[in-house]
Amino acid sequence: MALSKKSRVIAIAIGLIALAGFLGFCLSKQDQHPHGQQAYDHTAAILAIGPRTAGSEGLKKAHRYISEELKKSGWTTVTQTVERDTPVGKRTFINLIARYDAAGIKTFEDAAKLPAKGILSAHLDSKEIPHLPNFLGADDAASACALMIVIAETLAKENPELAKQLELVFFDGEEAFNKDMSLETGDGLYGSRAYAITLYQRDPKPKFGINLDMVGHHDLQIAVPADSPTHLYHSLQRAAAKFGVQKHFGMADGGILDDHYYLNKAGVPTIDIIGADFHDSHWWHQEGDTMELISAKSLDISYQVTIEMLRELLP
Ligand SMILES: [Zn+2]
Repeated sequence: MALSKKSRVIAIAIGLIALAGFLGFCLSKQDQHPHGQQAYDHTAAILAIGPRTAGSEGLKKAHRYISEELKKSGWTTVTQTVERDTPVGKRTFINLIARYDAAGIKTFEDAAKLPAKGILSAHLDSKEIPHLPNFLGADDAASACALMIVIAETLAKENPELAKQLELVFFDGEEAFNKDMSLETGDGLYGSRAYAITLYQRDPKPKFGINLDMVGHHDLQIAVPADSPTHLYHSLQRAAAKFGVQKHFGMADGGILDDHYYLNKAGVPTIDIIGADFHDSHWWHQEGDTMELISAKSLDISYQVTIEMLRELLP
């Protein structure tokens, strides 16, 4: 059936209007949460690598991706490698550490000689789950590492002096080989424990730490540990109030075992900004921890609050 010339013109016009509407929709989505969208895209890129279990080739590939991204905004990365006994035998763990405007550093020891006022960290390893060999851990905790890339980029642009005062650490071995981590068996927190040991000798010692874990859930509900350092909790509350997002930030009933634990022990007060009620969820350490679990909107909220805390705490 041939369309008349008039019908063709109308059909093309409708097509163009629909296309313009679609492009507008895409752009407005980006405009609403530009930093969250960036973090979302970095998360997808990290997941595309595949599982990042402790010391694995996937983890090393993720290191390369993060190092390349950070390099674009002037950060240099080094690694800290340790070997530890685990319930599954000897394993190697590799932490990735980044500093701004420090092109001369070659080793972790070099990085540790540079004064840093604050630490921003998250774990990059994905849990090794025997019955789920392809577990990727989108929110546990690729999303937090992705957020760190975006925060590092913004901070370098907006205030290089502040960026110089921050040490970024992407921990390996947060996840236990057994089902749950335990202080008694020492299973889990391998990377942060090895890093924290070095903090005892740091002079000057960093003044604070912020650890991120599961900060991108589409229904964002953060619950920091009840024993969080008070001044850091207040800083978090002020930051959340500034952006009117207090309803997303609460406090858990008790303490939480996570990468902040050994940093606090080493005398660097550290708050763990962590998603609430993960233990009872249908996705934690399960198949559901994929890109569908997280959203650019939630990542944007976590971004705004975390970077606002850094603006307040780093000067
Ligand atoms: Zn986990």
